Amino acid sequence: PVGLVWLRRDLRACDHAALFHALRSCAQVHCIFLFDQAILAPLPRADRRVEFICDSLASLDTALRALAGHPQAGLIVRQGLAEEEIPRLAQQLGATAVFANHDDEPQSLARDARVRAALQAGGVALHTFKDHVIFERDEVLTLSGAPFSVFTPYKNAWLRKLNAFYLSAYPVERYAQHLAPRPESECRPPPGLADIGFAPTNLRQLALPTGSEGAARLLADFAPRLAQYDQARDFPAVKGPSYLSVHLRFGTVSIRELARLAWAQAQQPDSPGAATWLSELIWRDFYHQILAHHPHVVRQSFKPAYDAIVWESGAEAERLFAAWCQGRTGYPLVDAAMAQLNQTGYMHNRLRMVVASFLVKDLGIDWRWGEQYFAEQLNDFDLAANNGGWQWAASTGCDAQPYFRIFNPISQSEKFDAAGRFIRRYLPQLAALPDKLIHAPWKAGPLELAAAGLELVGAGEAMGPASYPRPLVDHAQARERTLARYAVVKAKA
Ligand code: FAD
Repeated sequence: PVGLVWLRRDLRACDHAALFHALRSCAQVHCIFLFDQAILAPLPRADRRVEFICDSLASLDTALRALAGHPQAGLIVRQGLAEEEIPRLAQQLGATAVFANHDDEPQSLARDARVRAALQAGGVALHTFKDHVIFERDEVLTLSGAPFSVFTPYKNAWLRKLNAFYLSAYPVERYAQHLAPRPESECRPPPGLADIGFAPTNLRQLALPTGSEGAARLLADFAPRLAQYDQARDFPAVKGPSYLSVHLRFGTVSIRELARLAWAQAQQPDSPGAATWLSELIWRDFYHQILAHHPHVVRQSFKPAYDAIVWESGAEAERLFAAWCQGRTGYPLVDAAMAQLNQTGYMHNRLRMVVASFLVKDLGIDWRWGEQYFAEQLNDFDLAANNGGWQWAASTGCDAQPYFRIFNPISQSEKFDAAGRFIRRYLPQLAALPDKLIHAPWKAGPLELAAAGLELVGAGEAMGPASYPRPLVDHAQARERTLARYAVVKAKA
């Protein structure tokens, strides 16, 4: 039989569930990546994620040809609508089955249902597999068979269930000879950005390596730092985390490879960082199963009572939100974090928590606005993790922090960027301020401002290269407003 592997968020040629199952059961296997018009059409014409995908497809194509051992094998790349293009290609190739990995986002499930129906009409089966997480859907449940909604018991159950089987790689090499040569008409390199109507971004200038080799490079760089991850991960000026999130998002690295490394090292007494990092990978599984079980979180609060909260609205809310997006809130750690996001598409985890809390609990803006902005900007945007992170920060989610625990943007800054190294990197106009003022420049007197060559400007005033905004809100007052805003929830509960 002929099989077709449809790659989506799993852009690698090793340890790949769908590819493995196709190769094992079909004598001839083709691989396709489809630039799905439904996904591409709404995007701006320059998008780092699209460029990341293009680069990664080139390396995937090379890897498939190397795996097959002949140049005519390789990736077929097409553009179109999935429900039209996948059945059309299956028919052209004479495939009897299409193989893909699970994607539990609501829109992806709906797309897959349409593709399945269209394939079935032509007598072709769609087989799908777990690949993207260690445990999915109903694999980790409470004793009474319900999904977990609190992280720590989930994590404990996850760890109890884990064994070497769940971490072992799919040995695609074993059946690599089943990779088929592409039809003559499909033997061309994957399209470049311009071919699909996109313009280059600053991805090349960022130190963000793409494709599976890129992921391997980041992992090799991170592995010696893993033992100290717990010490370093909270300080944005330090190279603490792995920076692998974009690779996990697009599947240029296998989650099993990462979890295997973390699990093995976590058994060693001298590697406290490994257990902490494994925990982060478990958070990722946790949010994926939350989304699978509770798809309403895409639009509503996980806890329905929180939908009674009345957020700021109208022109004033728009103004506050725009200032937050542009990194002009007057709180240096928040603004430096937003500059990191806007310039690179990445934001450090500690800062994601700080800016999310600031938007929701200092500015009183609906968490969904921030979630949407992150979705547009983050290279690693992942619906499950992003939604989970925002609902956690807004206290509306499962296992949220209690609403009365409100991050103080100044003490977070003093604690996690004490010497202002991160702030100075992204806000050069503050560079000459002494450390004690860098977290709250509005506390500087005229002489200190003059010495630092800095001018503070009010809302709406023009900003020059040496100016910085005065704070948009007073944190202590904002805190009181938030407690009042959230009281409606307590009243309902
Ligand atoms: P590391 O510290 O090296 O962690 C390793 C991996 O574990 C990450 O790559 C990621 O896959 C996973 N991980 C770590 N922390 C979390 C977490 N809290 N929840 C789920 N998975 C986690 N992560 C995304 O991948 N995509 C998002 O869109 C996203 N949006 C977020 C929004 C908010 C408001 C918050 C608070 C967090 C968000 N996160 C998101 C989680 C986390 O911030 C990033 O995964 C992490 O910063 C990525 O950097 P890293 O790869 O260097 O992480």
